[in-house]
Amino acid sequence: MDKHPEEGMDLSTLSELPFFRGESPQNLQWLLGVATTRRLKAGEALIQAHAHNDFLYIVISGLFRVELVGETGQHLVTHIAPGETIGELSVLDGKPTAATVIADESARVLAIQRIDLWELIARSHTVTRNLLVLMVQRIRWDDEVLHDSLALQREYAKTARMDSLTGLYNRHWLDEMLPRLIERAHNDGQPLGLLMLDVDHFKDYNDNFGHQAGDEALRAVGAIMLRHIRADDSAARYGGEEFVIILPNLDGHSVGDVAERLCRSIRMESQLMFARQNLPGVRISIGLAMLRPGQHAEELLAAADRALYQAKADGRDRVVAQPED
Ligand code: GH3
Ligand code: MG
Ligand code: MG
Repeated sequence: MDKHPEEGMDLSTLSELPFFRGESPQNLQWLLGVATTRRLKAGEALIQAHAHNDFLYIVISGLFRVELVGETGQHLVTHIAPGETIGELSVLDGKPTAATVIADESARVLAIQRIDLWELIARSHTVTRNLLVLMVQRIRWDDEVLHDSLALQREYAKTARMDSLTGLYNRHWLDEMLPRLIERAHNDGQPLGLLMLDVDHFKDYNDNFGHQAGDEALRAVGAIMLRHIRADDSAARYGGEEFVIILPNLDGHSVGDVAERLCRSIRMESQLMFARQNLPGVRISIGLAMLRPGQHAEELLAAADRALYQAKADGRDRVVAQPED
């Protein structure tokens, strides 16, 4: 890195920099005596991340890029253009730099050493004010980045709980939420029903009409299910062609009614929906279990699964409830 004190740097160039806007000629003259200018070639680093930094840099010409080193490697954060500053945080608090700053093209900066910056702050309200404004801009920018990344995180969290094919909740959601819904039912002394649904002979459906028709059928089953449950109920895709519906605050008799209606609706509505494509509808079998005192999620799921197994054994396209004790 070349050092050319005051090379090409005069009072008028200095006073045109936004950072020194309104500064007195005496202070600028003093600064010209202590500051240096540095030239950088394209690709040359001005600041390395996690290093000690003793300078405030003001870009006179050229463009810089700021890169952060994350877990996934180097990534561009922003560009810094003429008039803007580099290194203001690390020079003020003496902590290591957060990012690497590299010249994108041949560039020139004014370099002010920490000790001279503090002296300048002591001498000049203008510089102090400009520095404060700069800091506020940085904080706002960081807030915006944080806000964006939180919004993105929420979006990711949402998709992590949804099944992309059907738009229903996924297994991950069920594993997390079923124990909580069960706990609430136990605490409130309210009933809770669970249905396990499985598409009948779905392997044959795929084999005969193709995987894409199979996917369409699963999507349709999901949509029909959603149309026939209450806002309080939740439907999740449990596995390939298996679904779980949770019905809180509903007695066994009413849960049985919902299950019967679902079984019938899926048979009839899917038939209607697919007739246009000359495809048959699908049918489902349902195992029903009601939450018992002290029962955990795994036990409730297992009970519904046993009932589903019985529904398949009894001939499919039907609802079987877990036997009474
Ligand atoms: P049963 O009546 O006893 O349930 O018979 P089945 O053929 O439905 O059961 P089996 O478990 O033998 O087959 C399930 C089939 O579901 C096999 C698999 O290819 C299909 N399947 C699972 N997930 C998907 C999916 O996302 N899309 C499609 N198109 N098919 C799927
Ligand atoms: Mg299955
Ligand atoms: Mg099946």
